[in-house]
Amino acid sequence: MNIRAETTDGQLAVLAPDAKGFFGEWGGPIEDPRIAALLAEISDAFDKCVDDPQFQAELMMLRKHYVGRPSPVYHARNLSPEGGAQIYLKREDLNHTGAHKINHCIGEVLLAKRMGKKRVLAETGAGQHGVALATACALLDMECEIHMGTVDIAKEHPNVSRMKILGCDLVPVSMGTATLKDAVDSAFISYMKDPENTFFAIGSVTGPAPYPRMVQSFQSIIGKEARQQFTEMTGGLPTEVAACVGGGSNAIGLFSGFLDAPEVQLVGIEPAGKGLDTKEHAATLTLGKPGVMHGFRCYYLQEEDGEPSPVHSIASGLDYPGVGPQHCHLKDMGLARYESATDQETFDAFMALSRSEGIIPALESAHAVAYAIRQAPKMSPDQSILLNLSGRGDKDIDFVIDTLKL
Ligand SMILES: *Cc1c(COP(=O)(O)O)cnc(C)c1O
Repeated sequence: MNIRAETTDGQLAVLAPDAKGFFGEWGGPIEDPRIAALLAEISDAFDKCVDDPQFQAELMMLRKHYVGRPSPVYHARNLSPEGGAQIYLKREDLNHTGAHKINHCIGEVLLAKRMGKKRVLAETGAGQHGVALATACALLDMECEIHMGTVDIAKEHPNVSRMKILGCDLVPVSMGTATLKDAVDSAFISYMKDPENTFFAIGSVTGPAPYPRMVQSFQSIIGKEARQQFTEMTGGLPTEVAACVGGGSNAIGLFSGFLDAPEVQLVGIEPAGKGLDTKEHAATLTLGKPGVMHGFRCYYLQEEDGEPSPVHSIASGLDYPGVGPQHCHLKDMGLARYESATDQETFDAFMALSRSEGIIPALESAHAVAYAIRQAPKMSPDQSILLNLSGRGDKDIDFVIDTLKL
């Protein structure tokens, strides 16, 4: 039986949560009645937008003329090993603002506007989500408030400057460890002061329902385009599709285009950091345990008392102890494979792609490149790996130069 192709209401069953927001046993709602009512309002508004031709037309217009979609698929001939599989890149790095995050930020801000909200609010760690959101808010004339730890503010200067220039209200958070976790708490407190006028924008397929399915829906354009483009180029389907996994949004966006083709192997690549035998990694699906974190059930890296572990990756966008519920479900069902790449492999891949193709990838995306470099030689020349280049490496160049002492 082809379980990947089974559908309910025209949706792929494994990527369609039940009424409470569970993908299998993963994900789910927040029970607190006040928050549940707010989430239900978002869920209803989103469903209306999905069925609204005017909303869809505006989204499509912005994707095409503002983001620059469709992003191309490129056959990386120089990177492909002789006698091994051919490597193809889905170029999300060419989007306006340089990564896939703009796809769901535009969707979320359009939705917030539809709901009559005045303000969009979020936390950011390295600033990638903050910049994409501030961009969408500038475009769509919406107030934007971003909470960011003071430690991260000091580290991520270019993104902090971008957010300021784009006109967002940047709230420095100095409590606790002054990093992402505290920014989440601070943003949530601010949200609960005026939820009627505010939309909370989550930056991946994480958090309580309806966020995982909503962000997935806005990112599914990646897989939809990639399948059509790859088929036009080659006359067939890729042997494997691969993407890096932080919260899991760019990966699920790509996977969703191939889920009904069981001959295509789906591969997610997690950050193995300094090694899976150390504590300095963020390989959630590889080594995490089930539990509830940040309002949803997922595999996450945890301490003995269930607290989320401090995690590490050279790619700050992958530095998250949990992962989207869809990926937990795909893993349990054996429908996708999850592997990992170390910091060192990632640096090597970053340089290899830069020097062989003239494309400098984001360190996040370089994890997927590292996988393709490792995997392609084991495959045959009539096979192929289509990998998602989720972002460009401009933000990482100083760090790479300093670390590799170039
Ligand atoms: C944020 C980010 C990621 C990780 O997020 P996902 O939700 O796992 O896609 C990956 N690549 C880039 C370039 C990012 O900015």
